[in-house]
Amino acid sequence: MSKRILIVEDETDLAQILAEYLQRDGFVATTIADGLLAMAELRQAPPDLLLLDLMLPGMDGIAILRELRKTSELPVIMVTARTEEIDRLLGLELGADDYICKPYSPREVVARVKTVLRRAQPASAASAASGSASASGSLLEIDADTMQARVAGKNLELTPKEFRLLQTLAGKPGRVFSRAQLLDALYADNLEVSERAIDSHLKNLRRKLAPAFPDEEPIRSIYGVGFAFESFAS
Ligand code: CA
Repeated sequence: MSKRILIVEDETDLAQILAEYLQRDGFVATTIADGLLAMAELRQAPPDLLLLDLMLPGMDGIAILRELRKTSELPVIMVTARTEEIDRLLGLELGADDYICKPYSPREVVARVKTVLRRAQPASAASAASGSASASGSLLEIDADTMQARVAGKNLELTPKEFRLLQTLAGKPGRVFSRAQLLDALYADNLEVSERAIDSHLKNLRRKLAPAFPDEEPIRSIYGVGFAFESFAS
């Protein structure tokens, strides 16, 4: 069954190009240029994934996502014209699954669509129980009680900060966290700590994860935005 992608974008040329790229890759792509019409379509015939532009006539992307998230976990990739805007969007905790900044390459968008869809499948079945949690589809196990992280049964020697960082990122695979959000997760009182502190903990964490993920980078950097944990099929 072909996956249905709804593109909500008022720049119709852009939407059309994207739809063609997605169709070439076997998706069924529909385009809508107005926010209110999009909301109606989402209620009547929800797609498998929503590509949602931020600035739209009728109803903007933020309002659409807020409304949608009241009832739906549908994968959403938010599209904005400005990198700086993404930080603000992250702060609103709208629950988008990924963010793409214009101008983008349609190829990149297709790749991101595939990644988000791949992630969405096991994630819906994964339990959100506290205690022992494993990132969907990966070999990583995180035990909150003992503060131990294991990859394929092998302990990672992590400092408490590195553990907390991994727990935060891997707890929501694919979610993008800004430095400020990671800082909040790591330090009770972050007044004294520079956001750059995150970088050194991340560097060490990546070094320790590297032997377990020789061909992959489990923690993805999104330039100007933040970091996300990728889940891999085991
Ligand atoms: Ca727009």
